[in-house]
Amino acid sequence: MKKIAVFTSGGDSPGMNACLRAVVRTAVYHNIEVVGIMHGYDGMINNEFFPMGTKSVANIVHRGGTILKTARSKEFMTEEGRKKALENLLKHKIDGVVVIGGDGSFKGALEFSKMCNIPFVGCPGTIDNDLVGTDFTIGYDTAINTVVDAVDKIRDTAESHDRLFFVEVMGRDAGLIALRAGIGVGAESILIPETKTDVDVLIKRLENGRKSKSSKIIIVAEGDEAGGAFTIAEQVKKRLPDFDTRVTILGHIQRGGNPSAMDRVNSSRMGFAAVEALMQGKKNVMVGIIDKNILFTPFEKAIKHIQELNPDLIRMVNILSL
Ligand code: ATP
Repeated sequence: MKKIAVFTSGGDSPGMNACLRAVVRTAVYHNIEVVGIMHGYDGMINNEFFPMGTKSVANIVHRGGTILKTARSKEFMTEEGRKKALENLLKHKIDGVVVIGGDGSFKGALEFSKMCNIPFVGCPGTIDNDLVGTDFTIGYDTAINTVVDAVDKIRDTAESHDRLFFVEVMGRDAGLIALRAGIGVGAESILIPETKTDVDVLIKRLENGRKSKSSKIIIVAEGDEAGGAFTIAEQVKKRLPDFDTRVTILGHIQRGGNPSAMDRVNSSRMGFAAVEALMQGKKNVMVGIIDKNILFTPFEKAIKHIQELNPDLIRMVNILSL
């Protein structure tokens, strides 16, 4: 392993920079040349390669976003695009690649491996925590803390006005952000794609809790089957017109901000492990941390979306809420 490339891809997540810093500094320590690729797979296609060293990653461990920028590349979805990307990797004599991204980025790497023999190792950079083979993805902890911080503020105003708030959080296919943040803010109900949302049951719970609490917060994952927060709030408003109901969509605020201490530590460990994995000859695997230990999961398995929600958590939520 003489020269490696590193890039960030898909949605950005807090901690990607800390991971990048670990990749670059571990490679430098082992006398491996490092090049950064800007703008994800698009940059690989458009030859946006540049040399990186210890100094190029100074003072970024605490910064959200990604200094390498990121992209969702339509061109890489085509064989023509992937051919161009391969030409550039060969031109730059790249022996291994670290991809920091989510399930789509690893799907792309797998597809690429049909024509490209250069080994790829992935670091799970996504706020969604929807990858198999790691307890926490890079950015997930920060995103939860961002939601908790925002909903605490909403709770203040909800309590002052005796209001019912529906707060929509990110999670198209996974309700993990909603579930953990919902527990953290003491939500009265948490609606997630993994469990059936019954509006009748929700209304009953709200009616039953009418006297016990003046403010009510319902956390809704954007991918919930009953529709987003606006759709559900409309149904509730019709049936409980005396509730003063409001909707807040937290949106992209959840992707930004300085990474939490946990995200900085985890992403540093993963970046460090990714370079050493390439040196050991590993390919097409994702680095993860399970029960505090580093382990590697083949991309095929990592992207399977079979992460089960902990049934104890769901049971607890039902007992602790309304
Ligand atoms: P996040 O979880 O934050 O959304 P992600 O890595 O899943 O991050 P995607 O946009 O889904 O983000 O994927 C990143 C990129 O990977 C895509 O824009 C595309 O260029 C590439 N990619 C995804 N799937 C494929 C595929 N089947 N074939 C080739 N490239 C792919």
